[in-house]
Amino acid sequence: MNNTTIAPFAKPLYVMLKPIGAACNLKCTYCYYLDTKNLYKQEHNYKLSDELLEKFIVQYLESQTMALVLFTWHGGEPLLRDISFYKKALALQQRYGRGRQIENSLQTNGTLLTDEWCRFFKENNFLIGISIDGTQRFHDKYRKANNGEPTFGKVIHGIDLLRKHGVEYNIMGVVNNYNVDYPLEFYNFFKQIDSHFIQFAPIVERYPNGDVTEWSVSPEKWGDFLIAIFNEWVKQDIGNYFIQYFDAALANWMKVEPGTCIFAENCGHAGVMEFNGDVYACDHFVSPEYKLGNIREKTLTQMMYSSKQLDFGMDKSKGLSQQCHQCNYKFACNGECPKNRIAVTADGEKINYLCAGYYKFFDHIAPYMDYMKLELDAKRPPANIMCNLDKIKRAL
Ligand code: SF4
Ligand code: SF4
Repeated sequence: MNNTTIAPFAKPLYVMLKPIGAACNLKCTYCYYLDTKNLYKQEHNYKLSDELLEKFIVQYLESQTMALVLFTWHGGEPLLRDISFYKKALALQQRYGRGRQIENSLQTNGTLLTDEWCRFFKENNFLIGISIDGTQRFHDKYRKANNGEPTFGKVIHGIDLLRKHGVEYNIMGVVNNYNVDYPLEFYNFFKQIDSHFIQFAPIVERYPNGDVTEWSVSPEKWGDFLIAIFNEWVKQDIGNYFIQYFDAALANWMKVEPGTCIFAENCGHAGVMEFNGDVYACDHFVSPEYKLGNIREKTLTQMMYSSKQLDFGMDKSKGLSQQCHQCNYKFACNGECPKNRIAVTADGEKINYLCAGYYKFFDHIAPYMDYMKLELDAKRPPANIMCNLDKIKRAL
């Protein structure tokens, strides 16, 4: 491996693990991962074996260059494995960790949480990510159980248990055609349930014939949604509520690597390992052409630092349209995630389906970001902007 190959991977190697593949007790209308089961139709169960669990933990720990090692358990629904599986994983982390600081995070739909799970997570310092799409009427529209029943009540019960046991958690919400018109209801709901780290993601999906699904967000509405929440946040919430999109925007304004891959110039740092040891380029690209190999045949390091994965990550910037290259906000947007580049420019180049919304959003926040950048450059807190909004508005 030459140095040119290694350089873009200065970040720690990161591979999230699917201990039960795409198996899930819910059947959310928009789930991008359920179809992954079709890749493994011949399998009778989707359980990661003890042998592969150990192989993964050994290799993952060996591949890390930083003192802190983060394991991420993802699904499907990772709570379909029982606690004994995770106890085994923690014991292996200790056995092979050689004293390193190890942290675990787990993304769940929250419906299977119990006192026993929460005690276990608290004792072992897990960070739990919960998926919920806002208030009941929004959440229950698309996030249904396999039998079609609504799930909001169970998720809220799960969140209550996490709070009761003092487990650290954050919230991930999906923005779709139904809740996109209610940004403040969405935002205030997350504040009500005391989530200070808020992540949300827009749905952009297509039917097999290429048409965008009806539950996807429209570009314009996506822009308006972000702007409405930003206007509220910038008034009173900076420093108290952390919203991934706004943090990433400020990072790019400061010319610092953003915390989310979608707004980075290049990506490819976050792979995923399926229950049978297959490793893929990204959670959104689990398909044969993006398979990097299997952990039985190659090491995680070989796969994640391969030229195939390097090319995958660099294609994010190489695949930008001329419209993006000429865009005032290319530095902030970077064409967002390649999975959403399904629209076509007047010149016939692929461009992000959400482009119009992102342009509107970045154009709206630009004066605020400029101000916060000046504050940070002067070593003052960017939250100062909350006392100077009138000045900024007058200058617009
Ligand atoms: S393809 Fe999209 S989600 Fe995957 S790593 Fe790249 S930017 Fe991130
Ligand atoms: S806002 Fe549109 S044109 Fe600008 S970088 Fe993003 S996708 Fe490209």
